[in-house]
Amino acid sequence: MPFFATRGRSKANRFAEGGKETDRGCVEDQPQGVGIVHNTGKFKAWQLFVAAAAGLRHSRGPCGLFPSGPGIDTWNAIKNTGALMAEVKTADLMEKIVSLCKRRGFIFQSSEIYGGLNGFWDYGPLGAELKRNIKESWWRSMTQMRDDVVGLEATIIMHPKIWEASGHTSTFSDLMVDCLVTRKRLRADQIEPQSGIVYHYSGARSGATSNEIVQRLLNSDSPEVRAIIEETLREEKEEEKAIETMVSTLSKHPNPELSRHAPLVKQIWQSIHRSEEKFSVLLAAGKPVESARKLAKQFYRERGVDDPVLLAERSEQVQNTTRYNPENGALLTEPRPFNLMLKTYVGPVESEDNKSYLRPETAQAIFVQFKNVLEVSRQKVPFGICQMGKAFRNEINPRNFTFRSREFEQMELEFFIRPDEAIEAIYGSIAKPVGPGHPGEPQPNWGWQLWHQYWVEERFRYYESIGLPRQSLVEYWQKSDELAHYARATVDILYKFPFSKRDEKGELMGEELEGVAARSDFDLSQHQRFSGKPMTVFDEELKPAWSKLPDQKKTELSQSYYEARQRYFSKMGEPPEKADKQARADAEALGKGYYVPHVIEPSAGVDRLALALICNAYGEDQAPDEKGNMESRVVMKFHPRIAPLKVAVFPLLKNKPELVKKALEVRDLLRPEMTVFYDEAGAIGRRYRRQDEAGTPFGVTIDFDTLGEKGPELKDTVTLRHRDSMKQERVKIAELLPTLSKQIRPG
Ligand code: ATP
Repeated sequence: MPFFATRGRSKANRFAEGGKETDRGCVEDQPQGVGIVHNTGKFKAWQLFVAAAAGLRHSRGPCGLFPSGPGIDTWNAIKNTGALMAEVKTADLMEKIVSLCKRRGFIFQSSEIYGGLNGFWDYGPLGAELKRNIKESWWRSMTQMRDDVVGLEATIIMHPKIWEASGHTSTFSDLMVDCLVTRKRLRADQIEPQSGIVYHYSGARSGATSNEIVQRLLNSDSPEVRAIIEETLREEKEEEKAIETMVSTLSKHPNPELSRHAPLVKQIWQSIHRSEEKFSVLLAAGKPVESARKLAKQFYRERGVDDPVLLAERSEQVQNTTRYNPENGALLTEPRPFNLMLKTYVGPVESEDNKSYLRPETAQAIFVQFKNVLEVSRQKVPFGICQMGKAFRNEINPRNFTFRSREFEQMELEFFIRPDEAIEAIYGSIAKPVGPGHPGEPQPNWGWQLWHQYWVEERFRYYESIGLPRQSLVEYWQKSDELAHYARATVDILYKFPFSKRDEKGELMGEELEGVAARSDFDLSQHQRFSGKPMTVFDEELKPAWSKLPDQKKTELSQSYYEARQRYFSKMGEPPEKADKQARADAEALGKGYYVPHVIEPSAGVDRLALALICNAYGEDQAPDEKGNMESRVVMKFHPRIAPLKVAVFPLLKNKPELVKKALEVRDLLRPEMTVFYDEAGAIGRRYRRQDEAGTPFGVTIDFDTLGEKGPELKDTVTLRHRDSMKQERVKIAELLPTLSKQIRPG
């Protein structure tokens, strides 16, 4: 590739130069990439995060962070009537969320009994349900509710050539640096610029050995030698210089008995263990130099110099440097690229030929199966193919709980569209966006811009439909220097996680949940070049429309298409002649109805969305206990659509067979339609509280009224309790299913 690239804001610019990250901070990790999370009873990685996040400002609001968006649905209306939420520090909030995730079985450390494996997480019973609901809601809204998108489920390991074509083999890397003292590995672009005083050292030698030499010389038989040594040590306090003086005094001594000692002293001196490796330490202004020396000594000790004596210390003032470890001030190694793909071998022989990769994204399979899907699905451009599944990235710094993991799940759509030149040829012009917001039902004359806007807005609608209020999300348009050379626009949808950085006004800036990228025809073109198989489609409408165009229009559109293709081939390093020839051929083919489709890619992460939903749902308020006294309650206010459990069914008393029998009947009535949790243990208030923490939106209690003991009008009715408002209403058993189904049905 003619350009060196690191990962930037999003996969959309995975080949862009110098992309920037918005997230900062890091957790402990091992340099080899497979770090161990020590199990200290709590999540170690989290404690480190919390320490980094300490000092963040307070945040107020239901669910810890945000008020619900207005007018989403009845669920939000109920949610808004909930009791006042406690003010929680964001760092504390995250700690509480992590601890709840473990306590209630949302998320566990992977391999916890062996100390954990950094960057890997398991989902417990509630987490597994939550993830399934997320995936199902995404799949449903992306494919089943649409005519123009179909699904795919491809393998995780694919032909390694795919990753060459996509650019991952050569460029899917982050720049990493290592701390020269702790060896902790950091992402270069995540190091905050720092200012202060740098103390440089040219090396160190072993003080222990030099003391020994002096001792040996002082023990010399010759009183003259002893005298010279003692005098030099009196005069010259610095040992290094003292030894130099001794050697020169002895070597120049007229008495050969004495001068013969000079080479011996020199020899012993040279044999002293020393390191000439340069090292430096950054200290914030005002910090005592001793701490720099301490760190430098540690550095040289690790390089085999016992009791190091530092050599040639000098200092300088520096501004905004990123060359030092923010945690201890030690110099970092030079940044070097680190490929994030996890390798494996296919077959019994571990050779280069058998090397393969665990996919770092699900998208590439969609591109390579594009033609097959097109043939069998009776779709035509514009249409989409979506896929969800595991992806693997050997992240340098897995952090912020599950936010940046090494194994995670993606949900990606590749929506194929006509190039703008084809739209113009068929419809005479391309519809232009008329303003912000959803552009409405797709129209045949939409070019890439409207399709991009459409998908950005569709994705925002989706997030709102599962309970993330619009004000908890940020629409971030990548700047031109963040965009890949082939990307026309990329919008990152950010969620304001409690650990997000804050802007100068103190507002949470958000972290990426999803990127929506207009990727031109880059991906299919790459696979066409690398596989030698055509990725073009024949557009039945284009050919006749083209033939009716005035010559001037034909020339204009051909030229525009030629230029775009020529730019692509040149960027990919094709020699100018070949790039020109190929681009001309493509422009000619356009006139005959053939083109490589362009693509709009909304690419989201399941785990990040699960974490966002958990953060958004978390709340603390007051609820009455058994005796009516108020006590604090933790409540997970999941939208009923994605709540892990939809309803809990409780017989009021477990030792009344009639109540239990009726409760089991209600459970069996609801179970085919939704996840039901049956619980007969403990006081009813305690049972409610348990379900509040699990985020179960509805509780159904079967009591003596249900049995008709207070009169026939209440017979076969139950108490339906709403989690957020804690309001209770009497509902007929016959009406339960339609009442609840209405609220959990996908939007
Ligand atoms: P980031 O910049 O945060 O590393 P990215 O821009 O590289 O992410 P993409 O390649 O665009 O991410 O992947 C699409 C989506 O996959 C992301 O928006 C995110 O939701 C999810 N994702 C990517 N990397 C990870 C990860 N290490 N852990 C969890 N989810 C991830």
